Amino acid sequence: MAIATINPATGETVKVFEALTAPQIEQALALAQQTFEQYRHTTFEQRSQWLHAAAQILEAEEETFAKVMTLEMGKPLQAAISEVKKCAAVCRFYADHAAKFLADVPVQTDASLSLVRYQPIGAVLAVMPWNFPFWQVFRFAAPALMAGNVGLLKHASNVPQCALAIESILHQAGFPKGAFQTLLIGADQVADLVMDERVKAATLTGSELAGASLAAIAGKQIKKVVLELGGSDPFIVLASADLEAAIATAVTARMLNSGQSCIAAKRFIVIDTLYDEFETRLVEKYQALKVGDPMLPETDIGPLATPGILKDLDQQVQTAIQQGARVLIGGKPLGGAGNFYPPTILTEIPLGSSTAQEELFGPVAMLFRVATLDEAIQLANSTPFGLGASAWTTDAAEQERLTHELEAGSVFINSMVKSDPRLPFGGIKRSGFGRELSIQGIHEFVNIKTVWMK
Ligand code: NDP
Repeated sequence: MAIATINPATGETVKVFEALTAPQIEQALALAQQTFEQYRHTTFEQRSQWLHAAAQILEAEEETFAKVMTLEMGKPLQAAISEVKKCAAVCRFYADHAAKFLADVPVQTDASLSLVRYQPIGAVLAVMPWNFPFWQVFRFAAPALMAGNVGLLKHASNVPQCALAIESILHQAGFPKGAFQTLLIGADQVADLVMDERVKAATLTGSELAGASLAAIAGKQIKKVVLELGGSDPFIVLASADLEAAIATAVTARMLNSGQSCIAAKRFIVIDTLYDEFETRLVEKYQALKVGDPMLPETDIGPLATPGILKDLDQQVQTAIQQGARVLIGGKPLGGAGNFYPPTILTEIPLGSSTAQEELFGPVAMLFRVATLDEAIQLANSTPFGLGASAWTTDAAEQERLTHELEAGSVFINSMVKSDPRLPFGGIKRSGFGRELSIQGIHEFVNIKTVWMK
């Protein structure tokens, strides 16, 4: 895939970038290594100041950065502005809490002194996707930099200007040049980086295929990885649910980012007694959504990020129809310039079919009718994924069962699944392993050193 800005709303190629050459990558690795030797000794106060400065730059120029995102991957501008604000928040969170998260932890043993100490490990490679092009990077960079590591970013090939803007923000904020570098490289250049002795660990957010490939190489090199992969999150609605709130949230939870979110609700599992009303009202709400130019404030759904994503989604929907699914609204690309796909609802998806198992990365909701809580839980757990799960019920016993029995990295009751710097984020099963955010996120890429003294 060429490294280029291609406007997904028009198909116009705005700017093409050359991939870095081997000598340029070597230079970046040498700088990262050299910088780490000094950077690791900077104080928390210093790093915190720089990260606060980054938060200020983000907020001061939020519209400029948001427009770069919208131009490159098509998310509605208002959503892009919210994303910039969230990046500022994660910077402040780690700027304010990292020293506490990484302080020595004394432990009582037979030693005169024993403790756990957290130390940086060096250069960490981040392979990132285009769907939240700022957020995914800042949620990696903020803890990594506060921990004293240095970062190397391989961003998705369709968001090079976002990648360069992020590097520039961190440098303007005061971080040394080698503490965070954007490498404009293709996916085929990642393996060599992972194998390089100066890269100590890697984190990847993206598809299963990319995650498995990176993890296999890292495994051979005995290097740690964190993988944040796909999901097909269930959204369960039970008899006692506040239906009004559940339906309103079912719109946002599926359509956020034009449906291209790993933690979007993708499978709506509704109890028989509420199903018909849920379906009718969801159709009405989806029909009212405005698809169009993502730069316009009235737009709810922008284009999909690339023609490839549009083609894959269309293929999945056509397969679903062949397998027996019924289309309530939408169901085919809008045509014309840009990668536009309408809000779509599928029902009557055969349970054993590939569609019921897959992630649909676009504005397509799958509806399922169930008779009991047991059936809902079983269906929710029936995919290879385990990222997030949302469930709607006011019954305490049901809530208890759902939080225990849903196979997911997070369970949200009476809310959509969302990421929050204060809470760990990640998945199980084929959604990946490791956690980002919160104290757990900053502990992923440190040497957890045991110190014991007689
Ligand atoms: P990809 O896996 O294709 O791309 C993600 C990143 O990985 C890009 O930087 C890409 O580079 C790179 N990449 C692709 N193939 C390889 C490879 N073989 N080795 C190393 N790097 C590679 O993801 P998609 O564009 O398909 O993104 C959508 C997927 O990401 C969905 O499944 C979604 O659920 C998941 N995702 C998960 C999130 C989470 O937090 N769990 C959040 C967001 C998305 P290039 O662009 O150059 O190909």
